[in-house]
This record gives sequence, C-alpha cells and structure tokens, in this order.
Amino acid sequence: MEDTLKFTVLPGDGIGPEVMAVALEVLEKVTSDAGLKLDYSTHDVGGAAIDSQGSALPASTLKACEAADAILFGSVGGPKWENLPPAEQPERAALLPLRKHFTLFANVRPGLLYPELLDASPLKAERIPEGIDIVCIRELTGGIYFGQPKATRDLPDGDIEALDTMIYRKSEILRIAEVAAQAALTRGKRVTSVDKANVLTTSVLWRKVVTEFFAEKYPEITLNHMYVDNAAMQLARSPNQFDVLFTENMFGDILSDEMGIICGSLGMLCSASLGAHNNRLGHPFGLYEPAGGTAPDIAGQGIANPCAQILSAALMLRYSFGRDDLAKQIEAAVKATVQAGTRTGDIAFGTDSVSTRAMADAILGRL
Ligand code: NAD
Repeated sequence: MEDTLKFTVLPGDGIGPEVMAVALEVLEKVTSDAGLKLDYSTHDVGGAAIDSQGSALPASTLKACEAADAILFGSVGGPKWENLPPAEQPERAALLPLRKHFTLFANVRPGLLYPELLDASPLKAERIPEGIDIVCIRELTGGIYFGQPKATRDLPDGDIEALDTMIYRKSEILRIAEVAAQAALTRGKRVTSVDKANVLTTSVLWRKVVTEFFAEKYPEITLNHMYVDNAAMQLARSPNQFDVLFTENMFGDILSDEMGIICGSLGMLCSASLGAHNNRLGHPFGLYEPAGGTAPDIAGQGIANPCAQILSAALMLRYSFGRDDLAKQIEAAVKATVQAGTRTGDIAFGTDSVSTRAMADAILGRL
C-alpha cells in the first residue's frame, strides 16, 4: 500500500487560507497516526494568483496539480476582483479551467445535518428529528450545459429562437453510475437515480443504462428511479428517504443546491469533483472543496468554520486515496465536536461560539 499521499494545496482567497491551515493539521494528525506521510505543495489560485502572477490559474499552479494525485481547494474570489471582466474573475478563471483540464465529471456533495444543528435547516425539526445524512452526485461535464449545437437565430417570420442540446452517451452514464455505486457501498447501499424518462429521450437511455448496470455489476445495491420533479418535492418532504441520489448535470445543479439549503450552514458543506482519469494509485483524481465561498464578511477575523474544509479533506482520503477508514475517523471527530457544543458563530445559534483555532483544537483532540 502507498505510504505517501501526494496532493496539491490551493487555499485561494478570503477564509480559504484560514480554514485550509486547519484541514492540513487534521490531515497530518490522522495520516501520521496511520503511518502515512503527506507530500504536498501550496500554490496561489484565484485572486491571490491574479495579484502575484497576473492570472487566476497560473501555469505553475496547473503543473503542480498535474503532478499530484488530488487537489485540496479552498475558495476563490472577493470584492477586490469583482470589477474584472467576467472571464477573468477568480471563480470563472480558476475553477472552470481546472474542471475542464482534469475532466472532473462527477460532483459528490454530502448533505449532512447533525440533529444538534436542526435550527440551521429551513425544514421543520419534526420532519428530520435525526438530522439529514444523504449524498447527491451530479454529472458535471455533459448534458444540456455543454451539448452542441447551441444557438440563437432570427427566423424568416421575424421571430427569434434559441436552442440548447441535451445529449448523453452511454459511456458518460456508466461512469457516473459507477461513482454512485462506490458511494453507496460506503454507506447504506441504496441508490436513487433521478431522471425525466416520461419526457426526455436522454432520460430513457439514462434509465435503461443505469438499470442494466446495477443489475449486472452491483446486485447488492438497491436501485430505484425517480422523476426529477418528484425528487425535488421528496427532498423537501423527507430527505432521509434517500441514501445516494444521482442525476445528470442540470437536474443535479438544482437538486444539490436544494439539498444544500435544507442542510443549513455553508460552513459544514463539503464537496468532491472526481476526474475521468485515475491517479497514480488507481483511484479517481479529484478536486475537493467546501461548498461555500470566501466569506469576505468574516475573512481575517479567525472565526470561520473550518468543518467544510476538513470534511473536504476527508473526502479526498476516501475517493482519491482509497482510505474510507481515515475519512470516517475525521467525519466522526467533526460530528462529535459539534455535538459536544463546540461551534463557530455560523452554527452556534445564540449559544457561545468559538474561534477557528479553538474549533480546530477540539477536533484534533478527538482524533
Ligand atoms: P460565501 O459562501 O462566501 O458567503 C455566504 C455567507 O456564508 C456569508 O455570510 C459567509 O460569512 C458565510 N460562510 C460561508 N462559509 C463560511 C464558513 N466556512 N464559516 C462561517 N461562515 C461561512 O458566498 P458569497 O458571499 O456569495 O461569495 C463571496 C465570494 O466567494 C465571492 O467572490 C464569490 O464569487 C466567491 N465564491 C467562491 C466559490 C468557490 O471558490 N468555489 C463558491 C462560492 C462563492
């Protein structure tokens, strides 16, 4: 088994470097206890890279990412760079090229709400007394957002029409289904595939491919299908009926945001974007980042919630380094810390809040 974990650290802007420092401490602790070494280098990205090198994704940063097995990403952007032309702004000029360069086709977002944080959710507490624990997996590089042709054209009758193309190949469906299966195997072994097979031809293919794939390759996983309109309602009505929910790009864009809001605080939400190619260890190359942004309103104050970044690091251990055991250790330590009442301001709800440092120490103390 590989004893060195090689990854690239891109802290970014705002609270990014503050929470990244803590996530690295947590990684150091959990991996050294397991006899592993970390091999990482840190590089500018986003606004910090625009300031230091004139580009949100400098060639040297991209090169470092290519040489690694995973990317641990903070967040990018902030008021300082908001007046740049849209294509040069940190998020668009750093994250989109990274997604494209590494064909990051699978976005994995855990929807996690501990019962102690029910106040963070807009759902009624009695609907989710045990909190929420689901995962949403979104296809990220195909479907209507990228399908060609796209066009706007003037018609002979004086009207105007616009066109987007929704297109999926069997191979694209199979690779996202594999990610859903892998996620389900580390959890409750239940997968819900979301489509619109009563209307869309792409969904008819999606449903057929997914049905055959799970029957042949993962008979131990319980698969069911749901139309996207129903899935949106069911998420708000009873989210825990899902274990792993997976779907195409546009449906996933909408459902994963709905899931984010019902789970409450941005400071707790992590994500993984997995690549089409395996890393040197035979696991998916991936980019791991919090769901939230750079939180300019609290940056520099030492009060940001580091949990989303720490949980993103846990996802990196699970998916890119094949260490589900270590990921679970981190997840358990974060959960126990929050449940014991150690909380940053965003999840304190009127109780005493602690600094990023104190939160970090409490989590480290539980590892
Ligand atoms: P945001 O997520 O940065 O902040 C929204 C609210 O959530 C703020 O009140 C903030 O304080 C709070 N929050 C977010 N993360 C937190 C944490 N870890 N701990 C405590 N509170 C937290 O969203 P925004 O204000 O819309 O965007 C700010 C900047 O971040 C913008 O420049 C935006 O473009 C960028 N952004 C980047 C990414 C990314 O890098 N992937 C994602 C979203 C936004």
